[in-house]
Amino acid sequence: MPPQNPSDTNTFNMPSETLTQQPPPKASQTLTPVQPYEYHTHPPLSHLGLLVWPLMLTLPLLLNSSLMHYSSVFPRNWYSLHSNDEQGAWEPAWLPHDGALRHPLGLTLGISAVAVGHVFLLIYFRMYQHHQLLGKTIPIQSKGPSKYIYSEALTKHLAQPGGFLLLGLYLAITWVYNLLPESYYNFEGGIQYVTVAQCLMVQDFVQYAMHRMEHLSHPKVYRISHKPHHKFTNPKLFDAFDGSVPDTTVMILLPLFVTAHVVRNANVWTYMAFGSTYANWLTLIHSEVAFPWEPLFRKLGLGTAADHHVHHKFFKWNYGHLFMWWDWGMGTYRSPNEQWGKEFSVGV
Ligand SMILES: [Zn+2]
Ligand SMILES: [Zn+2]
Repeated sequence: MPPQNPSDTNTFNMPSETLTQQPPPKASQTLTPVQPYEYHTHPPLSHLGLLVWPLMLTLPLLLNSSLMHYSSVFPRNWYSLHSNDEQGAWEPAWLPHDGALRHPLGLTLGISAVAVGHVFLLIYFRMYQHHQLLGKTIPIQSKGPSKYIYSEALTKHLAQPGGFLLLGLYLAITWVYNLLPESYYNFEGGIQYVTVAQCLMVQDFVQYAMHRMEHLSHPKVYRISHKPHHKFTNPKLFDAFDGSVPDTTVMILLPLFVTAHVVRNANVWTYMAFGSTYANWLTLIHSEVAFPWEPLFRKLGLGTAADHHVHHKFFKWNYGHLFMWWDWGMGTYRSPNEQWGKEFSVGV
């Protein structure tokens, strides 16, 4: 069956069950209703895609495992906050600036953790686009995804001044200049999963508030900060961090700083796990195609690509990114299924 609009061709697989207009059945055929996009419509390997989530935590998990424990990899004075234990005494290493700058091991590992998680995400996304074994790709918008050259889009994505570069600068300054609560520099204990969830929720809540403020406070504020990100009315994965410097500052960096000072018990591994999950999830919700976990996420109010496409398409509703709970509570949520068969593919 052709796409809904035959003039819209794209390089992605268009599954017949997502299309919105069925031809009349022939007498010999049984009429099958349009199937919503659910887990059972996907081949078993599509569940492999779920691995992208734990893989975001690869580095903190690896450095806390017996395979490659951080204590066997790095000198003790690079990570210990104490100056002695049963094995002896040492001077904790700080950067040479009157002893006031933090040693950058935790910072370096944190940025590396996001990068490693992102590499896995990019590999999965590439495979998902090209191998039906991982499930059929369904474009969020019924006119199909916007076309792009993969290598160009990837390069632009990674080199956004308002994206990872600014984020890296923020992380470096707040880390080295000791602007985070003391627990964030602590290497003891592994990932605190409940605390990771708390960080994600506080971050997304503050981001929701900032996002609404950018849209609603004053046209000038919107124009300077957030409007550049809204040039994408049919975003693709690589548009996630394509925004202005003021936008990233207000909607990502400020909430990160608030979150660190609200959730004050995270250790270095938790901070890393939170950072990687946050950055990679924010990327995933800009995808031009739906993912296999999204029907479940929709039920739980966790952010999906189609939820965020509603925001990009209509410029209002769905101000939350990772959680739709704030939108549910404030009455600003609109489900993508209201657009099924219109602007959006059925089932996304
Ligand atoms: Zn966006
Ligand atoms: Zn917006």
